[in-house]
Amino acid sequence: MSRHVFGPVPSRRLGFSLGVDPIPRKYCNFDCIYCQVGKTTHTEAERRSFFDRQELVLEVLRHLEKAKAVDVITFSGSGEPTLNKDVGWMIRELKRRTETPVAVITNGSLLHREDVREDLSFADIVLPSLDAVTEETFTRINRPHPSISVDDIVKGLQVFRSAYKGKIWLEIMFAKEVNDGPDELERFRRVLEGIAVDKIQLNTITRPAPGEGAKPLEASMLARIGRMFGNRCEVIAGFDKRSEALGIDDWVARVLDILERRALTIDDVASVTGIARDEAADRLRRLESQQLLQTVRQGDILFYVHAEKSDIGT
Ligand code: SF4
Repeated sequence: MSRHVFGPVPSRRLGFSLGVDPIPRKYCNFDCIYCQVGKTTHTEAERRSFFDRQELVLEVLRHLEKAKAVDVITFSGSGEPTLNKDVGWMIRELKRRTETPVAVITNGSLLHREDVREDLSFADIVLPSLDAVTEETFTRINRPHPSISVDDIVKGLQVFRSAYKGKIWLEIMFAKEVNDGPDELERFRRVLEGIAVDKIQLNTITRPAPGEGAKPLEASMLARIGRMFGNRCEVIAGFDKRSEALGIDDWVARVLDILERRALTIDDVASVTGIARDEAADRLRRLESQQLLQTVRQGDILFYVHAEKSDIGT
């Protein structure tokens, strides 16, 4: 099983995304109430090397060779990727050695640092998040390391935008009665006017989060916020892109590998592995009976989670 590379997974924003996880599980400078990976166990504020960067790049290249359908290589995973100080070197290496675009999903907390902006400048797409514009709401939803302020994040985004030539897709994750109040939304609107990102992607909690009671926003409310924030906004729709086949032999290993990082529905599994839905459901039931995975229900939706990651969705 791969240590750092997973997928391709069906990403609602990026198509088929080969995930790169350059951070040990839950090393993060946030502890978001909606985090699918679970509670932050290692609160980190400083950047450092975590793994052999050369080996990690070779692992990505090996996966790329095997997988037939990859739209983008995406640094994300189970912690904040910019905490790895080798991330810029790895992006440059991948850009030098493959034609596949590189994206980075980041919480945006370190964009006020010049070294981080320089590292991310080599990526084709940067997807930062910004879930609040007041310190109080920021603390409630993202529970950041004390060294991080929302003002620094906003300034970091502005400075990064002024120099970065690639695309910036800003994600806002909404949780009901946390960051959807009228004052917060009005302040958000004003702050967003001052950041020239290419897209503003409105999201809400759709997958199990670790027992925080975070609730999703209704679709009608997201649509209303979209109208308020202007025409750069889109509400992120469900992923429906289909794969012919992945060219990866070990179906079970691939599915368990992805489930280590995120919960999946039957449709996700069918889509990412290129098999029919009924077949995916059968195989998942068998894995469940072997106690390799378990199910978690959120509302009407059944999610599969890794058996050893029971903190997801509890
Ligand atoms: S959602 Fe991302 S930024 Fe938030 S705690 Fe999880 S890994 Fe960290």
